[in-house]
Amino acid sequence: MTSAIMPTYAPADIAFEHGEGVYLYSTDGKKYVDFGSGIAVSALGHSHPHLVAAIQEQAGKVMHYSNLYRIPGQETLAQRLVDNSFASSVFCTNSGAEAVECGLKIVRRYHDVNGNPDKYRVITCTGSFHGRTLATLSAAKNEKHMDGFTPMLDGFDQVPFGNLNELRAAVTEETAAILVEPIQGEGGITYAEPEYFKRLRDTADEFGLLLFLDEVQTGIGRTGKLFAHEWADIQPDVVAAAKGLGGGFPVGACLANEKATAAMAPGTHGSTFGGNPMASAAANAVLDIVLGDGFLENVQKTGAYLRTKLEELSAKHAFLGDVRGQGLLTGIVCDDSVVNLDLVKAAENIGLLTVPAGANVVRVLPPLIVTEAEIDEGMAILDQACGEMGG
Ligand SMILES: *Cc1c(COP(=O)(O)O)cnc(C)c1O
Repeated sequence: MTSAIMPTYAPADIAFEHGEGVYLYSTDGKKYVDFGSGIAVSALGHSHPHLVAAIQEQAGKVMHYSNLYRIPGQETLAQRLVDNSFASSVFCTNSGAEAVECGLKIVRRYHDVNGNPDKYRVITCTGSFHGRTLATLSAAKNEKHMDGFTPMLDGFDQVPFGNLNELRAAVTEETAAILVEPIQGEGGITYAEPEYFKRLRDTADEFGLLLFLDEVQTGIGRTGKLFAHEWADIQPDVVAAAKGLGGGFPVGACLANEKATAAMAPGTHGSTFGGNPMASAAANAVLDIVLGDGFLENVQKTGAYLRTKLEELSAKHAFLGDVRGQGLLTGIVCDDSVVNLDLVKAAENIGLLTVPAGANVVRVLPPLIVTEAEIDEGMAILDQACGEMGG
């Protein structure tokens, strides 16, 4: 099939006509259990009545008029994120990469306004993913993603994820910040101990660095807390969020604490669309649900249930290994005999959507509204797909 779409993707030959809850229905009439959530985006599943109503209502009033004027919905959104986090201000973006870019700019400007313009380097981790813009590619240093796009931006020093000694050894007079994901999503649901993050906080304080967390995938309830760093009980200086924030409407956010916020002033950053009335209405509707009574506790509960079920599958099928993750950000490792994408395809053929990740991991990322019965349904399909893989 020829297509006018620039050939950067290799999509499966499936298109969805509509969705409801955790289900998607293809244009050829097949029903799918969606445990990919459009890569951890559809936090409320599909066609959630509260989100749909909020978007419809806002579309009928006004969609956009730019940040040249006050946007009450964006003010409410920012205040709610501030009230429920470490942050004291929020910059609204349209995507995850832009939220990370905003944080990188804040980090540089923070040191500049504090009389240290030579502090501009950021320590990042192997296996990370921060987006597809030039700065975020330069931060993550993924060879495959950089191919053909060099030279990268200067100013990023990489150390192994989870290794505090190497990170400390990489700090120089020019270091401005540490940028890490609380759990590496694209990298393969790679996890580090809460103690590591506590020590990152200490290290940042010791050397006067900002601690910048990329919570684009882990944030907005995905792990069973609004932000995953809450599990380590630490206060970062800057956080990037996006994916689940709009429940499918493109919107991101860069959150900053008081001292990081103080570096920014009118004219230092901007976005035409960022946090426009539509995006803000969508994100506020998502927060209505995610911050509602018992919602995050329920994500923890269903996440634990999903994990148990994945561990059962791992025990049953020889090629499956480690089950990783927290809350509803989970993944299961395949051994060398099976390519993760083949398992994803086998499950897709019988009606379950999952997402491949690095380290030969299959990500299982149900909408946050998933029930235990729906998890059973998805896991039955995954079990069948594993059987077909001959394991
Ligand atoms: C998806 C992702 C991004 C990039 O988000 P986009 O909206 O695709 O720009 C950045 N960081 C992490 C951790 C992500 O998972």
